[in-house]
Amino acid sequence: MRLAVPSKGRLREGTLVLLRDAGLQFESTDRALAVPVRNADLELLFVRTDDIPELVTDGVADLGITGQDLLAEYGADLPELVELGYGKCRLVAAVARDDEAEKLEDLAGRRLATSHPNATRRALADRSIDATVVALRGSVEVAPKLGVADAIVDLVSSGSTLLQNDLREVGTLLASQAVLVATQERASTTDVQRLATSLSSVVQARRQRYVLLNAPADRVDEVVALMPGLASPTVVPEASTEWVAIHSVVERDTVWDLLPKLRAAGATGILVLRIEQMVE
Ligand code: AMP
Repeated sequence: MRLAVPSKGRLREGTLVLLRDAGLQFESTDRALAVPVRNADLELLFVRTDDIPELVTDGVADLGITGQDLLAEYGADLPELVELGYGKCRLVAAVARDDEAEKLEDLAGRRLATSHPNATRRALADRSIDATVVALRGSVEVAPKLGVADAIVDLVSSGSTLLQNDLREVGTLLASQAVLVATQERASTTDVQRLATSLSSVVQARRQRYVLLNAPADRVDEVVALMPGLASPTVVPEASTEWVAIHSVVERDTVWDLLPKLRAAGATGILVLRIEQMVE
């Protein structure tokens, strides 16, 4: 099996870390195009991120990791097997700060400059917004100032670049992140599904934490109620009958809020551990 991965750019590092966290062993150099994975029947094809939709569509690679925005731009019709949780960004429309537009619909009949013309046209059509798309290679942010267009459509993660250019966001056309895709023919094969399960086990584990703590036996219900884990928490008796140990998997983003509440409910010896992989 051949997996096309980004050879450079924003998605390269996240992809290499993910593959290694999933346990795949391989050399990564900037030059090598095809690299064998030592412990799997898999070859990594290091190529440009924006070539990956086409390489998978044409069957040059069986699988690929690329951005959802690039799949939309190419118009790829490939099954997205796993959303990988990095490379998150949005394709947004923005206007000059003093423009009267407030929402996407206000851009009807106007000219939009973008280096993502296909994804933009498709997203506008989905919303029945009839606007003229001006395809530019770069420097899209200055298009309104130069009078080339009334608005721009560009990828942002924080939006700070828009602010620096005196632009104001009016709406999101597409939310994107890195994804694992496969050819239509191979998507449901055992080998592809095994790789998808393995990558998804890492992505899922990153969003969770394993929490262990001691709780007074008479306050177990109170502590358990605070921890809505995947399944119900495991409660283990301790040598002293006055205490129990409680283990649970919780959402990483809730831990900051959860810890003081557990403490207030009498929990002690609270440990929060990373999980490497997780298959439900
Ligand atoms: P590259 O041009 O190779 O650095 O990769 C660009 C890809 O990274 C885009 O197609 C998106 O999928 C992703 N990406 C994530 N955040 C951003 C961002 N703030 N601006 C542009 N691309 C982003």
